[in-house]
Amino acid sequence: MHNKNKIKQLVKNNCASYLGDKYGISNYCCWKDGSCVFLKQDDQQPSCRYFENGVLPIDEKLEREYKMERHMEVEFKAAKPKVNCKKCGGTFSANSNRQAYCEKCKKKNRNEKSKLWMRQNRQKQA
Ligand SMILES: [Zn+2]
Repeated sequence: MHNKNKIKQLVKNNCASYLGDKYGISNYCCWKDGSCVFLKQDDQQPSCRYFENGVLPIDEKLEREYKMERHMEVEFKAAKPKVNCKKCGGTFSANSNRQAYCEKCKKKNRNEKSKLWMRQNRQKQA
């Protein structure tokens, strides 16, 4: 596992379930009711849903690396605001604040534009 130290640091500093040494268990996690999977030495590719949903998004770069390593879908809800498409009204994740159309409508717009352009061009030639 890459970034093991960065993940450990993130757990220790930010995970609400991480309680340190408790009940005679080192690196006790109250969510797992045992040692934190990231701080155990034996796990090659530990994963924890609590950590992935609640702690990992703090570090966007680390999240991307972590999820790519595990072949998980990388999705950044916070970075991509949900927007209503101006054309069809459907919601979609915008890549930027200026994006007004969903991917489907964007493609349609482009096709219409190129069709129009072709028609105008043809008329000019005729
Ligand atoms: Zn649309």
